[in-house]
Amino acid sequence: MRLFPVRLSSISKMLDCYSQYNPSPLSIKQFLDFGQNACEKKSFIFLRKELPVRLANIMKEIALLPDNLLNTRSVSQVSTWYMKSFEEVIEFEKAEPTHCNLQKFCSTIGQIRNRHSEVVQTMAQGVIELKEAQDGNVDSALETSIQYFLDRLYMSRISIRMLINQHTLLFGKYPNEQGRHIGCLDPACQLSSVVMDAYENARFLCDQYYLTSPELQIKEYNQMENETLPIRTVYVPSHLYHMLFELFKNSMRAVVERHDQDKCDILPPIEVMIVRGKEDICVKISDQGGGIPRSQTDQLFKYMYSTAPQPSKSDLHTVPLAGYGYGLPISRLYARYFHGDIVLLSCEGFGTDAIIYMKALSDEANELLPIFNKTSSKFYRATVPTGDWSNQKFSNRWRYLYSQFQTKND
Ligand code: ATP
Ligand code: MG
Repeated sequence: MRLFPVRLSSISKMLDCYSQYNPSPLSIKQFLDFGQNACEKKSFIFLRKELPVRLANIMKEIALLPDNLLNTRSVSQVSTWYMKSFEEVIEFEKAEPTHCNLQKFCSTIGQIRNRHSEVVQTMAQGVIELKEAQDGNVDSALETSIQYFLDRLYMSRISIRMLINQHTLLFGKYPNEQGRHIGCLDPACQLSSVVMDAYENARFLCDQYYLTSPELQIKEYNQMENETLPIRTVYVPSHLYHMLFELFKNSMRAVVERHDQDKCDILPPIEVMIVRGKEDICVKISDQGGGIPRSQTDQLFKYMYSTAPQPSKSDLHTVPLAGYGYGLPISRLYARYFHGDIVLLSCEGFGTDAIIYMKALSDEANELLPIFNKTSSKFYRATVPTGDWSNQKFSNRWRYLYSQFQTKND
């Protein structure tokens, strides 16, 4: 049932209007403080503006995608989902925060979350459709725009899901009553237990695929507190788990394949070091999987870059250990979402260190959000830029990094 029916013709005006607003980034501390004294009405009033603002900002960028990508069946499907969700959430624009409306809002945003659950796979399919239609001939400018766009789309999606999850877990039909958790945040997340959990699940896949897997060694170093206590922080455990699971899968594959070549019986363990400093918390995963040549490091965070064989479509029920080339780029977005990062350092011939950085202070862990502005729209129209260094790849890369997350005044 509609609360305030919005005519289709006015939707695009609403979209223009909401896309003029900047999203309001929240810090982990704000999520936590708000959740501890949770008020459903306040959350409703914030979200009924913030959700359409975040949706509209990214929808404006979807609309700027080149036609040959936008018109693929999969990308137009994604675009339709966004339009439908925007339309549904905007119906609450002037709704009174009555009990009934609050309930409807909660179930509407839950439906929106479910509708968007396949966005990543569907967009990946869209890129494959584009490549197939062009017989694999996608020029580097288009490739760069797609990479730029996907980073922003997926970051926006992570943020929208975070907002929806907090609201539905705190105020939905089945509020999260798992002890200390505040929505999906754990105020005392023990890092080593998330590491163990991710390791065990990655190891299960590795054993299934290779019939062997490397052991795990964990060390902790806490510069800030009593060194005997396990390191804890405020974080979203599911985000950290996602990153660790992907990094473990990568390390395990590298270690097993490398040592299979050497015909060596004992696999070197994967070593994890968890460190808490004043500003940063780092989780370093070190493997002896033979490393990555330096010439490939620019490729690692590209969507669909993979050296693994493509997982078979016929075997839909098994989760592959590798093969889509989404593991690293999506994991890095999770880290960057709260102003952390993921960095890979490799010594070819030996192994790789992957470091997850997290902000140690929850008030510094602010959401990093894409904003639609003149700079971002220019990016989609740009042709191949003229290099101002002898190695053009280098200047493109910096141009890309700097322009990814800009402010509206740019
Ligand atoms: P999936 O999407 O299933 O994770 P993938 O593992 O191939 O597929 P990424 O996790 O993004 O994709 O990794 C991209 C590529 O980077 C891998 O295919 C591999 O070649 C290389 N790589 C990543 N981590 C390591 C590592 N620890 N050691 C050696 N190579 C690595
Ligand atoms: Mg991977």
